[in-house]
Amino acid sequence: MTQDILPKSSSGEKSESHERPGIGTDEKELAYDRILVPIDFSEHSKRTVSYATRTASRHNSTIYLLHVFQIPDYVVTPYARRRQNSAEVQSQLDAAEQEARENLEIFAKELSDKGIKVQSFLRVGYPFDEIVLTAKHFDVDLIIIGSHGRGGISRLLVGSTAERVVEHAECPVLVVKGSRLGPRSE
Ligand code: ADP
Repeated sequence: MTQDILPKSSSGEKSESHERPGIGTDEKELAYDRILVPIDFSEHSKRTVSYATRTASRHNSTIYLLHVFQIPDYVVTPYARRRQNSAEVQSQLDAAEQEARENLEIFAKELSDKGIKVQSFLRVGYPFDEIVLTAKHFDVDLIIIGSHGRGGISRLLVGSTAERVVEHAECPVLVVKGSRLGPRSE
């Protein structure tokens, strides 16, 4: 069942914490108990989830599957320029959010069918903000995120979610890169 957790802001409050091996304790096994996997349902997301599945299987981790629902541009268009009334806009928004929830459930079910412990979450907002907040809230050990490897103008225009997450997350981040020439066969 997908949950709508509300990380309690960036105040630093966390769920129950667990120990991580520190410097000088390398005799301890490296633990990846909690792995956050943000997905946008793209083809490349599937590859990222596949990588995360193998990692979780090896480390007996719980995967925290997260999708961030972004409010589409048309909703923030000034009312007078919209051709739809607010009830129609709201109903489209609800339908899009429901579709995102269902997609997330499909990914979560595939993981649990493979014997992976999984919890799924849908958040509304900006992907990189919500990814970083959720990682902090659950005190995850690792984030596994995709990167489409966009370059040039496209990257300047849209920015890079993966790059921002790497910059702002407090835990290690593993980036599964996509090829600009298309997906690599596994
Ligand atoms: P890039 O980082 O290469 O510019 P994107 O910004 O489109 O590419 O997304 C990179 C990765 O960020 C995705 O593969 C996914 O793991 C994560 N991501 C992007 N958008 C979302 C979203 N709405 N919800 C959850 N994760 C997302």
